[in-house]
Amino acid sequence: MSTLDPTDWSGLRALGHRMMDDMVDHLAGIAAQPVWRPLPDEIRAGFSAPLPAEGTAPENVYAAFQANIQPYVTGNTHPRFMGWVHGGGNPVSMLAELLAGAMNANCGGRNHVGIVVERQVIAWAAEMLGMPAQTSGVLLTGSSMANFIAVLCARFKALGTDARANGLQGAKLTAYASAGVHRCVPSALDMAGLGMQALRKIPVDADFRMDLEALRATIAADQAAGCTPFLIVGTAGSVDVGAFDDMAALAEIAKTHNAWFHADAAFGALTALSPTRKHFLTGIEHADSVAFDFHKWAQVTYDAGCVLIRDPELHNATFAQATSYLAAAPRGLAGGQPWPCDLGPDLSRGFRALKVWMTLSAYGSEQLGGVVDTTCDLAQHLAARITASNRLELLAPVKLNIVCFAIAGFTDAQTADLVADLQESGLFAPSTTTIGDRMAIRAAIVNHRTQRADVGALVDEILRRTAALTCINDTAPPLATR
Ligand SMILES: *Cc1c(COP(=O)(O)O)cnc(C)c1O
Repeated sequence: MSTLDPTDWSGLRALGHRMMDDMVDHLAGIAAQPVWRPLPDEIRAGFSAPLPAEGTAPENVYAAFQANIQPYVTGNTHPRFMGWVHGGGNPVSMLAELLAGAMNANCGGRNHVGIVVERQVIAWAAEMLGMPAQTSGVLLTGSSMANFIAVLCARFKALGTDARANGLQGAKLTAYASAGVHRCVPSALDMAGLGMQALRKIPVDADFRMDLEALRATIAADQAAGCTPFLIVGTAGSVDVGAFDDMAALAEIAKTHNAWFHADAAFGALTALSPTRKHFLTGIEHADSVAFDFHKWAQVTYDAGCVLIRDPELHNATFAQATSYLAAAPRGLAGGQPWPCDLGPDLSRGFRALKVWMTLSAYGSEQLGGVVDTTCDLAQHLAARITASNRLELLAPVKLNIVCFAIAGFTDAQTADLVADLQESGLFAPSTTTIGDRMAIRAAIVNHRTQRADVGALVDEILRRTAALTCINDTAPPLATR
């Protein structure tokens, strides 16, 4: 017997129902679980097994998942996970992953509904950001890939098809982004063959926004040195502190130099759905391209990145290749161009669009915008608690959902230890970054499950743990009055 399907489906059906019940219980009870548990050595060692020649009953494989996998995942579904910028996921997206698995659609191309659903999602994304209806785009693993695709499109605009065929041939292209740019942007320049040094990191002002005078001066110096400024990257929601570059000004400067204007709005793009904060993005509607993630603030399960490219022909021309085995046809399964495989480097791709479409359909833009607002309000609450304590200091203004702070008198090593202790205790998962020359505790409130009490408890726990270690008394009022 060669099929992988069971002869009697009832056992699989029962197992599937059990998994569903368990996973619903898991999500419903997540707050009572530890945020994170370190993976014990003996379980880690169990994942160095040889390739199994013989199969194991799916019930037993599931039991191994329950014992050895489920307890030791990242923890970002948990309301007290505040590290990095991780989305919390959502139950509708979880169910969509099951449906997508059953469909097993290959969304690299061909004439089927998966491609149409993806175009719907891209159109919604363009609408959200005020970009034209014909804006092109694809779903990707994340913003790292989305930024890479945008850089390749910008390179195509600067050098045309010749560079696709023959490479850079000595072209001296230069790109510009703020000093707070995410590491994937220099990476994208590297992968595009331009080299990381082609990226000029422009200093930021006191609000962590790109200094426009410094940008203009750097562009002028590069031009004088014979370089071609081809790309300006605006960061909308910087990963360290949640700062927004002046998108409108960057669009204007890019236009003056006939350069491509790209926005890295990995999580900041979702600010567009917040009535109180959408003005942070003003000008992004002029972008030639935008990179952002549905898996961060839009709470779609991992992974779901997105790139938008204003000019659909240019997007296609950057990646399309004619091959006999992928030839277009006027009808049948080979119809329905353009195909996503001509809009990026992937050929085979899963049905990511389904979970995005189901999430946006189930919750709507208003509820998702509400999550953005609520998480930003929680960050303000956290900032207020920090300001009220004379043992804690804010290290950057809190404009969005990210709070960077330090403990008075703590060395970087002590801060790193405290954060690791908090993570290993299973109580909280903030992360760290460096602001100026100082290590910061960084809390990014992204998860729709996080509540005011979670944020307050983080401050209380830090104050409790540091009381013995610092000689500064905290004069903040007792818990009940906060
Ligand atoms: C998260 C992030 C990225 C990278 O996105 P991935 O989805 O992790 O690949 C890029 N830029 C910014 C500003 C980010 O916050």
